Amino acid sequence: MTTTYGIHASVFVGGWSPEETRSAVRRAADAGYDLLEVTASDLSEIDPNLLGEELRSAGMQASASLGLGFDRDVNNEDPQVVQRGVDFLVDAVGLVEGLGSDYLCGCLYSTLGKYSAPATPKARANAVAALREVARAASERGIRLGVEVVNRYETNLFNTVRDALGFIDEVGEDNVYLHLDTYHANIEEGDLRRPVLDAGDRLAYVHIGESHRGYLGSGTIDFPAFFRALVETGYEGPITFESFSSAVVDPALSNNLAVWRNLWDDGDDLARHALRFMKDGMQAARACYGKV
Ligand code: MN
Repeated sequence: MTTTYGIHASVFVGGWSPEETRSAVRRAADAGYDLLEVTASDLSEIDPNLLGEELRSAGMQASASLGLGFDRDVNNEDPQVVQRGVDFLVDAVGLVEGLGSDYLCGCLYSTLGKYSAPATPKARANAVAALREVARAASERGIRLGVEVVNRYETNLFNTVRDALGFIDEVGEDNVYLHLDTYHANIEEGDLRRPVLDAGDRLAYVHIGESHRGYLGSGTIDFPAFFRALVETGYEGPITFESFSSAVVDPALSNNLAVWRNLWDDGDDLARHALRFMKDGMQAARACYGKV
């Protein structure tokens, strides 16, 4: 089993103009990655034909990720706001299909941003029903959804793998999987092994992010424990590097993620370093289990 290594487009570009589209695909491929994660928070920016063409000619796979905004939040009591969210998510499913990908992930169930109060039962029920509807639309096109577990400052619906699994159970569709991100898990989980074991074969996608979202290994995250847990559970999905700096600004995303400071300037160097770090980490973890 060969591991698929991915990289989030924000390492290279902040938008999807034709120049940015070509740049993101080419630089991800040049750095040695197999997959480009397309930020799909603003679908109007993306030319799916151009992006799909660039991906195909570079031999790259793709995934897409997004976070909802408050104006189209399915985790809301107002049915009109929820409907806008459902419509947007169904459009995003269409984008994923157009790119020849089968995976849409991120904060698909909530605004990606700071709430000022806990989720209400009604808003939660709306989020469950909305995700069920989107999952059924995705299933017809052979597309899987990944529910990314994010920290308390970025959603009020759930912040741990266990609670996310409960939410996914409520949605009750078999194309809805769990998406785990080390940056968020480092804030919310007791350690980085337990959540991987809890997720088991429902884990379909992984974000590798450092505690400050900069260079891997320069923060406080226990990556060896996380990589060992992936090997221990036989995880076979993509391993995707995610990092943000004020050097690359996505107007629709950077402010929601509180990307205020410059953790790196050179996305190409960062990307190469991250790929080495992840491959070395997985190789060391496999050696622990005699799986080299
Ligand atoms: Mn993430």
